[in-house]
Amino acid sequence: MYSIEQRDEQLRGTQAKITYELSFDRAAQHLVTVLIRVEGISTPEVVAVMPSWSPGSYKIRDYAGWQGNVRAFKGAGASRIPTTTSWRDKASLVVAADGATSVEIEYVVYAHERTVRTSHVNRFHAFLMLTSICMYVEGRTQEIHHVLLKHDRSAWPSVSSALSLVREPNTDGHLLGALNYDILADSPIELGDHIVTTFTEAGALHEVAVATNFDVDTTWLTAQVQQIVKVETAVFGGAPYDRYVFIIQAYPGAGGGLEHARSSVNAVDPSQLTDKTKAIGLLSLLCHEYFHLWNVKRIRPRELGPFDYTRENYTTMLWLAEGLTSYYDDLFAYRCGFTTTKEYLETVSKEHIGRLFAVPGREAMSTRDSSFLAWLKLYMQSPDGNNRFPSYYLKGGVIFLLLDAYIIDHSDGRYSMDDALREMWKRYLADPTKGMSEEECFAIIEQATRVQIRERLKTWLEGTTELPYDEILAGVGLALQYEDKPSEPATFGEKRPFANVPQAPYTGWTLAESNGKLVIRSVDDGSPAAIAGFGIDDELVAIDDRRVVTTAQVDHYLASRREKGARVTAHCDGRLYNTTINPILRRIPKVIEIEKPSPRQLEMRERWLRREI
Ligand SMILES: [Zn+2]
Repeated sequence: MYSIEQRDEQLRGTQAKITYELSFDRAAQHLVTVLIRVEGISTPEVVAVMPSWSPGSYKIRDYAGWQGNVRAFKGAGASRIPTTTSWRDKASLVVAADGATSVEIEYVVYAHERTVRTSHVNRFHAFLMLTSICMYVEGRTQEIHHVLLKHDRSAWPSVSSALSLVREPNTDGHLLGALNYDILADSPIELGDHIVTTFTEAGALHEVAVATNFDVDTTWLTAQVQQIVKVETAVFGGAPYDRYVFIIQAYPGAGGGLEHARSSVNAVDPSQLTDKTKAIGLLSLLCHEYFHLWNVKRIRPRELGPFDYTRENYTTMLWLAEGLTSYYDDLFAYRCGFTTTKEYLETVSKEHIGRLFAVPGREAMSTRDSSFLAWLKLYMQSPDGNNRFPSYYLKGGVIFLLLDAYIIDHSDGRYSMDDALREMWKRYLADPTKGMSEEECFAIIEQATRVQIRERLKTWLEGTTELPYDEILAGVGLALQYEDKPSEPATFGEKRPFANVPQAPYTGWTLAESNGKLVIRSVDDGSPAAIAGFGIDDELVAIDDRRVVTTAQVDHYLASRREKGARVTAHCDGRLYNTTINPILRRIPKVIEIEKPSPRQLEMRERWLRREI
């Protein structure tokens, strides 16, 4: 029986026959020492398996690759004696119990990859993704599991995790518990001297754990997080948990997030936190990962829970899991009051529709296939990837934007995607053990909104042709306008720029400066750069016999020539070649309000952009 629901009181004072003791004596070397104690054994062998991936991040990461010094014992504690082990496959260890009722397995894990989905340990903190630390015991994943943290509590006083406290921390360590392995795998731990604030909202406790070396206004940040909780729980009529932990990690170059049932991990570059006007990226990310506690952790495609931790778990429905969430994240940021109506429409224009138009791959693969192949496409993107598939986040988000506008328009403003969400939530509560199929999802949306969407939505998800923007957006008094002129140069108030140069026309290459060279990193299919014969990793040497070494030089020169062709000398595989590139003015779509909208169009737009539920 698959269940990810846990309340703290359920673990209080429990006993467990599977316990992970985690020690940090070698944290400076990025090592976690693990001791798994398995009791209650009645079989000749115990098989312990290290997961190969973490739910929510669709990539095989083969965590066993970072594991070492594996040893096993039969019996426990002082009376244990070494026993034999063998590997059944790359991640499955067979331990001989030989009639003993308990075994202990010891190993170290190298944890030095700093992302929201991998463990990171050093002398100052530990972030533990337990899928990369804790092997599960085959056949026993449904029982209570304990995690005993044996760290120096004076150096690392803060422990933030959705795992529940089993008893008050004592000299033995800090004992946490999960009702089953799925919950353990879904509950990362941040351990260190980070700042933790709390608030109560929707009858539940919320912890905001901010791990950073930078000065962060945690009071302000906590107030914003509380606003997010208020707005999102209002849609679903409450919080389906007793406690929720927001882990926020701010370090240079950080980004991305990962959702869990009672927590989320949100990574951000500290530069976004020094100026509150720049924090919208983090706030939108927090809206996104928090919304996932409903959409994907609970409301979910059938294939995403229960999980097989050893291999790819394929689903065509990441358009629901991530597309719907990408549509709602900026919408929630707007409903929270973080952005104005004008700013939200600009975001839709630039970050959603505009970005999708810059992806040639939207014509090469459907959103469903992009989801199914996420393991090899989005998560292992080749430099040519932008030409081969659209992200199911990006195109899925645009599809739900159009779907919401369509539902509002065709129900005369009576229904919206909010109603479909609530219906999906009811369906989850009726049977939390099973996810949804695509057909069920279509049916639920139609039932909740009384609008026929099945054929349309299927076409959008399975097709590669341009979406019907103008037809749908007209319902809410909006339209796409194509700007095909490079914008005029900025004039900086009264001051004139040094040279009156417009923005560069479209070439279709992206360039990177690398060791004093200018290297092509990508080439859009069908673009001027592709037609001129440039390839990825070719080096630009000169344009019209002028040596170029910076992207600014290239942009400036091509801009000054507008759409005139330029002769380029480039280098590939040890030889020079010459070709001519003819940059063009590209049509860039922009969402605009149509002139003289009808009262109905205005009414529908107001309905769509209503802040109150
Ligand atoms: Zn997401």
